[in-house]
Amino acid sequence: MKYRKMGRTGLYISEISLGSWLTYGNSTDKETAVKVIDTAYSLGINYFDTANVYANGRAEVIVGEALKKYPRESYILATKAFWPMGTGPNDKGLSRKHVFEQVHASLKRLNVDYIDIFYCHRYDPETPLEETLRTIDDLLRQGKILYVGVSEWTAAQMAQALHIADRYLLDRIVVNQPQYNMFHRYIEKEIIPFGEKNGISQIVFSPLAQGVLTGKYKPGGNIPRDSRAADPNSNMYIGQFLKEDKLLKVEKLKAVADEMGITLSQLAIAWVLRQPNVTSALIGASKPEQVEENVKASGINLSDEILNKIEAILQ
Ligand code: NDP
Repeated sequence: MKYRKMGRTGLYISEISLGSWLTYGNSTDKETAVKVIDTAYSLGINYFDTANVYANGRAEVIVGEALKKYPRESYILATKAFWPMGTGPNDKGLSRKHVFEQVHASLKRLNVDYIDIFYCHRYDPETPLEETLRTIDDLLRQGKILYVGVSEWTAAQMAQALHIADRYLLDRIVVNQPQYNMFHRYIEKEIIPFGEKNGISQIVFSPLAQGVLTGKYKPGGNIPRDSRAADPNSNMYIGQFLKEDKLLKVEKLKAVADEMGITLSQLAIAWVLRQPNVTSALIGASKPEQVEENVKASGINLSDEILNKIEAILQ
């Protein structure tokens, strides 16, 4: 496993990292979840991603429990807040009250003394950014959070956050967590250039388009029984990628991977990692074998010839 520095910080993150959305506490039973996390840890993955809202807190409990046996300094734990955790008017968003309470609730569920990276899961137009950033800065100073990140914020929103942080000498956001894969490339236009200029790195989620870029979904609509697309609790999100035109492209991309002697999931992960501003490809996994396959993408360099072939297919 290779490690990259997160933006302008001194923190090294594994090129491939593991998340818990839709899997742990949800579609994947606890025993399997722990096996997947153990496999990831043993193969050098040091960044584990969760959120308060994943399986309504159960994902945090499982991730925390699985990692508890390892030295705290050997892994990086990231969690997030923004999405509703209840039905009350203050059970969501980035208000001082909700962020403060959710960070403490996450610490309890994860069973740790501090969170390495705390993300604002989305931008909250209803709360003044000063209020959110001041709260996070307080939590940083209390040692409950080490770094602050955002997820799916626009470049303008991140610029506003940097401006406020500099004006009031608050800690700056250092990482963004956007979606990025061969079928979802909006960050290339503005977010990556902004990140490069301002020392904000990207930890990108769904690099495999939720499993579509592994090649296991074939044109014609044949869905493997043990896959995310077959799971009624999880399949509402993957539909955007399960389109015939995309599945035909997947077949062609798989031929490129075959030619290189690697798997399509390894090609898809190496492809997002070709961007120096991407610190880590944040994968999900429902089985240990998937992690074993995917980590081999670390260190694969794609030649210009291969990149051009991929570009021609994606056009
Ligand atoms: P991926 O694109 O990596 O998809 C992961 C899924 O693909 C797995 O759960 C598995 O599903 C399948 N898969 C993975 N590897 C293989 C393989 N080698 N062979 C066959 N199937 C494979 O990422 P996710 O969409 O799961 O997102 C990853 C993480 O990103 C999340 O866990 C979360 O931490 C974060 N995230 C953050 C968001 C945000 O708003 N900040 C939003 C979404 C995700 P299966 O076996 O069930 O088919």
